[in-house]
Amino acid sequence: MEEKIYDMIVIGGGPAGYTAALYAARSGLSVLVLEKLSAGGQMTNTDQIDNYPGFPEGIGGFELGERMQKSALRFGAENQFSEVKSVELSGPVKLVRTRKKEFKARTVVLASGAYPRKTGVEGEDRFQGRGIAYCAACDGMFYKDKTVAVYGGGNSAVEDALLLSRICGKVYLIHRRDALRAAKVYQDALFRSGAELVWNSRVTGFLGEKRLEGVELTDVKTGERKALSLDGLFVSIGRIPDTKLFEGQVEMDEAGYLIADETTRTSLPGVFAAGDVRTKKLRQVITAAADGAMAAWSAEEYLAEG
Ligand SMILES: Cc1cc2nc3c(=O)[nH]c(=O)nc-3n(C[C@H](O)[C@H](O)[C@H](O)COP(=O)(O)OP(=O)(O)OC[C@H]3O[C@@H](n4cnc5c(N)ncnc54)[C@H](O)[C@@H]3O)c2cc1C
Repeated sequence: MEEKIYDMIVIGGGPAGYTAALYAARSGLSVLVLEKLSAGGQMTNTDQIDNYPGFPEGIGGFELGERMQKSALRFGAENQFSEVKSVELSGPVKLVRTRKKEFKARTVVLASGAYPRKTGVEGEDRFQGRGIAYCAACDGMFYKDKTVAVYGGGNSAVEDALLLSRICGKVYLIHRRDALRAAKVYQDALFRSGAELVWNSRVTGFLGEKRLEGVELTDVKTGERKALSLDGLFVSIGRIPDTKLFEGQVEMDEAGYLIADETTRTSLPGVFAAGDVRTKKLRQVITAAADGAMAAWSAEEYLAEG
């Protein structure tokens, strides 16, 4: 029997991947989604998503992930839970290998996501979702009128502090240097926002029993330690795109994000980058899903070009 060549293989079963699969399968393309963990991607790490429209009471991330997967399977997309170990993306027929199998496809959607960089301080995983958060746009509202801190000094950290200063009672920005790396326009807005800057400080401990109640700060110059009481800490020290697998094949920016505009077309014909993995401003469920739809559309266009 002739070996199957899919119209599309999707690497990653988060909102970008399953939306690409839904749109492609519903347009009559043969689609395989390969996911290494469980359906839903990063969403599975949160109990409550309030900013994906259509769910006025909010929805659990795990449930939303499963629903997105089912939406794609309903129209015939196939799904296998295995990790992609290597890819050959340059030819007209792309090769995608897991540990046990090799798959072929005419187009590939790279939707492997990007995960937040952690502080690495003891106790971080225990308090994740119980006072430690990584996305102000996602979780800021859970801290309405409360006291929070943002940890970081780049543009994203300052943007997060600005957003939180409109919602929370008190906002600190903790930075390990004595100057911010963020663009001047952001800094000016931050100084006007009333957020309090805590310079030359590293977070070296988390305080609390069941929930985070504060952080231990260490002054990087004097070594002096002090406690800061908080209801929440937003860690904003960067993200790590999951793109190692594609190094040397697909063009990336200096941070490792796959370079693609809203068409999701990458530097390689027939290869599309959707969701958090591509260069973009806002990394959210809704923008990932939108990219997935666009990737399927661009792939159809590519296949039609012959
Ligand atoms: C704690 C937390 C809370 C959040 N809350 C919200 C919120 O309230 N609202 C909101 O809009 N956004 C929220 N986000 C952000 C949102 O989850 C992401 O923007 C979104 O999931 C990105 O979707 P994606 O499909 O691009 O990537 P991801 O969700 O990261 O999915 C990528 C998938 O690819 C898989 N994968 C990676 N490499 C391989 C491989 N080699 N082989 C097979 N599979 C692979 C991963 O296992 C993963 O399942 C939150 C994120 C976190 C971490």
